[in-house]
Amino acid sequence: MHILHTVAEMQTEAKRLLAGGASIGCIPTMGALHSGHASLITASSAAHTASVVSIFVNPTQFGANEDYSRYPRTLQADIALAADHGATHVFAPSAEEMYPQNHGTTITVSPLSTILEGAYRPGHFDGVATIVCKLFAAMLPTAAYFGSKDFQQTLVVKQMVRDLNLPIVIRVMPTVRESDGLALSSRNRYLAPDHRSSAVALYHALLAGAKIWEGGSGLRTEIEAAMLAVLREFDVDYAVAATADTLEMPSVFDKGSEVVLLVAARVGSTRLIDSMVLRSGL
Ligand code: AMP
Repeated sequence: MHILHTVAEMQTEAKRLLAGGASIGCIPTMGALHSGHASLITASSAAHTASVVSIFVNPTQFGANEDYSRYPRTLQADIALAADHGATHVFAPSAEEMYPQNHGTTITVSPLSTILEGAYRPGHFDGVATIVCKLFAAMLPTAAYFGSKDFQQTLVVKQMVRDLNLPIVIRVMPTVRESDGLALSSRNRYLAPDHRSSAVALYHALLAGAKIWEGGSGLRTEIEAAMLAVLREFDVDYAVAATADTLEMPSVFDKGSEVVLLVAARVGSTRLIDSMVLRSGL
């Protein structure tokens, strides 16, 4: 396992790998790794000679009142987990390395960055798009692996790659869940035990929405009402159905369309998100 801390070291190593004929899979993360991250690392290491896990708690994607300073940082355990799942490299730069003084470039992906999650977390996706692009420029990946749980993020990254002509394949992997259905998340460790058990409501809300769709209704209000009914005791930011590739929200979904359900809610003081893609099939 190679551990790299600077962009220059990372680029030199990536160029060496590519010159030797390797393909590089990268897995951008903020650390506090769990089985969800592990599934991305496993998928990458099955497909690439080298798999680089980046571990960087990116300050620019956190709002002023969010959990940047208390976000879990567990580098040694993360390195062990990454190695166990086939990673060959960990790239763990400092904040000063990624954002030196006078850093002045921000990437905005429009209009995706300002709706839904972007409306509740202004600037969040600018931070995500900018750091992902910078990480790509350091790791020089052939392909990059992202989780479907952060569904809107995957669309933002895909559009950025398309718009900027980046020669990188984006692979989106299924959400890994606990046995009761709660999506694994580094933020789950903030949950007190009673909140942990109630947090599964987000998943139940997605199932309730899916049931309406599978029952034959393409009416958005009906799908969303079923989700909100499950979440009535929670502080919900949004619980919506949208077209999976654009996040448009028509009042009725066509028979053949692919729909995504997206929820964001606070469980106690912890804000969680989840999503579920519904295959066409009315
Ligand atoms: P994060 O460390 O939270 O920024 O996440 C890094 C990557 O892991 C992102 O692409 C996430 O979507 C993905 N990820 C997080 N949780 C899960 C999960 N439960 N299942 C699959 N992928 C996940």
